Amino acid sequence: MSVTENITRLKASLPANVKLVAISKFHPAEALLKAYNTGQRVFGESRAQELTAKQKVLPSDIEWHFIGPLQSNKVKDIAPFIHTIHSIDSLKLLQEVNKQAAKHDRIIRVLLEIHVAQEEAKHGFSPDECRRLLHGLPPDALPNIRICGLMGMATNTDDTTQIQDEFHQIHELFAELKNSVFKENEHFCELSMGMSHDYPVAIREGSTMVRIGTSIFGEREY
Ligand SMILES: *Cc1c(COP(=O)(O)O)cnc(C)c1O
Repeated sequence: MSVTENITRLKASLPANVKLVAISKFHPAEALLKAYNTGQRVFGESRAQELTAKQKVLPSDIEWHFIGPLQSNKVKDIAPFIHTIHSIDSLKLLQEVNKQAAKHDRIIRVLLEIHVAQEEAKHGFSPDECRRLLHGLPPDALPNIRICGLMGMATNTDDTTQIQDEFHQIHELFAELKNSVFKENEHFCELSMGMSHDYPVAIREGSTMVRIGTSIFGEREY
């Protein structure tokens, strides 16, 4: 099936409160344009260099999200235009995003990545590390970032119960933080969970943003 058909069908199946982030990594700019022409404006990439190259040649009203591991020294390249960074996994990175955003007089939205999957290779804070970070952060310490929520990935498995349990853990942490550190903070409202194979489970567990690549653009060629 074509990108156009895939995205049209997918959008029709998502609840109205769930934002679709089209994950276009490893796909050429022409593929993104096909999605763009169906009305899609939110795209996610996982490598800074690839992202900046695409941003230069694609329409300026695209809302770009960063979803991959991010090295501190790459933040400056995406800071002029990035809308949301999903993959914050250290205080150092948070500080660097704040610093680079300030240089451009911008506020960059960020999500804290939470590690609950069983795979070691996945990035992110444990729930306890995340609590400690947030409770230790003075209010207004980082004026050029806005912490908008949490992001997480479930273990890559066919065991739906396990996937659901892992997304549930992230949702519980989100609810706890919303009732403590982020009480009366309207911006803390996003849960980025769900990829092509597990997004229906993520939506049942409260996801507000799904990051879908393969089901839109097909298999990636690395
Ligand atoms: C690649 C990627 C996705 C999209 O995965 P698909 O299985 O292609 O939908 C989502 N989230 C992250 C963090 C990714 O790296």
